[in-house]
Amino acid sequence: MVSTQVSPTAISTNGTVQSSIAEPGRSLYDIAIEQFHLAADILDLDHGWRAILTHCKRELAVNFPVKMDDGSIEVFTGYRVQHNIARGPAKGGLRYHQNVSIDEVRALSMWMTWKCAVVNIPFGGAKGGITVDPKRLSLSELERMTRRFAAEISVLIGPDRDIPAPDVNTTPQIMAWILDTYSMNAGHSVPGVVTGKPVNVGGSVGRNEATGRGVVFAIQEACRRSGFALEGARVVVQGFGNVGSVAARMAAAAGASVVGISDVTGGIYNPKGLDMAAVVHHTAQDGSVRGFTGADAVTNAELLTLPCDILIPAALEKQITEQNADKVTARLIAEAANGPTTPEADTILHDKGVVVLPDIFANAGGVTVSYFEWVQALQAFAWSENEVNSRLQTIMVRAFNDVYEIAQEHNISMRTAALVLAVKRVVDATQTLGIFP
Ligand code: GLU
Repeated sequence: MVSTQVSPTAISTNGTVQSSIAEPGRSLYDIAIEQFHLAADILDLDHGWRAILTHCKRELAVNFPVKMDDGSIEVFTGYRVQHNIARGPAKGGLRYHQNVSIDEVRALSMWMTWKCAVVNIPFGGAKGGITVDPKRLSLSELERMTRRFAAEISVLIGPDRDIPAPDVNTTPQIMAWILDTYSMNAGHSVPGVVTGKPVNVGGSVGRNEATGRGVVFAIQEACRRSGFALEGARVVVQGFGNVGSVAARMAAAAGASVVGISDVTGGIYNPKGLDMAAVVHHTAQDGSVRGFTGADAVTNAELLTLPCDILIPAALEKQITEQNADKVTARLIAEAANGPTTPEADTILHDKGVVVLPDIFANAGGVTVSYFEWVQALQAFAWSENEVNSRLQTIMVRAFNDVYEIAQEHNISMRTAALVLAVKRVVDATQTLGIFP
């Protein structure tokens, strides 16, 4: 039993700490808390620890005006939330999406704490975002919105405090604008304030591909440990953004047959395997997979239940639910997205014997190479791509085996095992630091 000195009544719990089963219609944050309690039960954490770890340490909401190209003014809402900083500075991406909400950002920041702990890099967890569909903005509106948001959250961010990175719909260029805005205010260049920036302003080689590459390293190790060949395995990828497209290409390069892919416009399916070079060429020309001629069109919903061996959800959260989990045919799911599987779906998949490599492990390659980028920025020393990729592989393989051992020992899912590992590391760090004052 791990115990704190915090009395159960000392911290307001808003009722969330006690409830291990959240209500229907619950937020992503409720789901994150529900997952946490499964690990907390195994670790036998008391109420005080649960109260600490289910609350985000800091939450900033900002409403700020932006001049639009037509001369009008729009007010946008953005957030930066730091869940926990016991293991190091807060780390996590910024998302631009119309569904960004404080609850989503809280969940994503909590998952960043666990993710950094699973791969054992010295960061806490944070996340941020703006509630906006960036596709409706011009490039100059996007730049003005980003720079103003960077100024608004500059009370929290900094190279030794909180380091943003790309996430859904945010790019190396957007990181460059944040870096520039922060540096202009500091009066000197501060390359360690963001990661995922372009290489010509201090970014790391290999960072762009790191999340997708890490997903494939995770799959390869899972296949190796379970005696399952990646060569010839049929792979379906939901989402063809930075993460999904790299994971699909690298899985194909490793000998897998990528049979299905989707993006926001819909999916494509070819049971004989898609010609990846042709798909990449098509999406570069047309901006989406829609209309690709070497395959049949499928809906995003159909895509998830196509006949395959490995499913890689690389889009948004809550995609695999109690509605479709029993129709999933894959033996292995590698969560390239954050939060794609609901707790109900987790139970169904576990009962079916489907192995889920959870987001907080499977997609940790991105933040791992963010850590390498941050180290390079602080040292003003650039690593080679080989060094970046081989260190990434070492970390993903080690993390897989750390999680796998816990899963075997307690006969639990890889998600709960990853959470047990992560939560224990955060609890240990907090115990060593002590609770101030
Ligand atoms: N947004 C990515 C994630 O969810 C990367 C975060 C980072 O590099 O800080 O893990």
